[in-house]
Amino acid sequence: MPKTQKKKRKNKLKDSFLNTQTEIIEGVPEAIKGTREALLNILEDVEEARRAAEEERDKTLAIIENFPEGLLFFDKENKLSSVNPRAQDFFGLEREKLIGKSIGDLRKISPLTPLIEILGKEIKGIYRKELKSREDLILEVSTIAIMREEEKIGTLITLRDVTREKIIERLKTEFVSIAAHQLRTPLSAIKWTLRMILDGDLGEVPEEQRKFLQGTYASNERMIKLINDLLNVTRIEEGRFLYNIQSRDIIEVVEKLIRPFKEIAQRKGLKFEFKTPKKKIPKLEVDTEKISLVIQNLIDNAIHYTKSGGVVKVSIEFLKKKNQFLFSFNDTGIGIPKNQQKRVFTRFFRAANAIRAETEGTGLGLFIAKNIVEAHGGKIWFESVENKGTTFYFTLPVKE
Ligand code: ADP
Repeated sequence: MPKTQKKKRKNKLKDSFLNTQTEIIEGVPEAIKGTREALLNILEDVEEARRAAEEERDKTLAIIENFPEGLLFFDKENKLSSVNPRAQDFFGLEREKLIGKSIGDLRKISPLTPLIEILGKEIKGIYRKELKSREDLILEVSTIAIMREEEKIGTLITLRDVTREKIIERLKTEFVSIAAHQLRTPLSAIKWTLRMILDGDLGEVPEEQRKFLQGTYASNERMIKLINDLLNVTRIEEGRFLYNIQSRDIIEVVEKLIRPFKEIAQRKGLKFEFKTPKKKIPKLEVDTEKISLVIQNLIDNAIHYTKSGGVVKVSIEFLKKKNQFLFSFNDTGIGIPKNQQKRVFTRFFRAANAIRAETEGTGLGLFIAKNIVEAHGGKIWFESVENKGTTFYFTLPVKE
């Protein structure tokens, strides 16, 4: 290669190297600028997130502070970490004296003792449990476990003031109780007068009139039953459904109760079966009058809601392993529609098909039955298929 050509090539190479270097050097401030901008953007985002978090915190705090229900928050060590003014008012205590204290320490603070006793050392799951905190304050206590992902991070206790509702409820119950008592006396007077007329004590009664009088007597009897049911309900609501517990041979009790029902079933064209255990069984501690109400009601329902030609079976079993009695009342009647089954044990419930089949009924019998069975430590439940039949069950434990 000639010398001049060689030099030219060398210069070209040098130029291109220098150009690249210059580009790199010139690009450095550009890159720094870009990074700075990115950093600023990140900072701005962080600041915005912080502001949003603060806003959320203030909102949450405002809600907690002004919440109409009392709120207490326990952390995962069951130490009180927050309490709102409403909860402080309920107990007349200052927040500063409570925060950070464990369940055990709070139990020693007298206005809080009843609440802590309900909650227990480990803070159990509670839903709408009534707490008479003071003579003039009834609270409804619920607990909510607060979770983050799978882990429990604390428990929120809500306290709702239900004093007013309870007073109204009590007044309503008292009103029904007084009205029912007042109605019972004249209804009894009507019953005995009608009985005397029907028995011919006041002179001969023509057949035509006797029929009407008998109808009136039956209506009066139904009214007396309704009044008695209402009185039982008010006693349950007032918590004074007293129990006269005695040790009884339950088979004997049921046999006596069943006799009139066998006749009623026969008259209606129903087959009636009664099964009892063959072996010797223990005695039961029961309030005979109240348990009789339950059994009568369940048999009465089985007969009432089963059409002629059907079968009603009553059985008593002794479950040795569980040391309890199982009573069952099976019929091949109209059944209870699936969509109404949840309400069966509530006051005044009557299923639509039952109202069509049997106009008479108070819808109070099963509510009363449930309360009586549960007060004896037993359980009551049923299985039913519409137009096929129903079986009601209840258990009664044998007390040691
Ligand atoms: P009542 O029989 O006076 O209406 P209960 O409280 O005893 O009141 O029963 C409530 C309702 O439950 C009845 O109205 C009926 O709809 C339903 N029920 C109870 N027992 C039976 C049964 N054996 N078969 C079908 N429905 C029943």
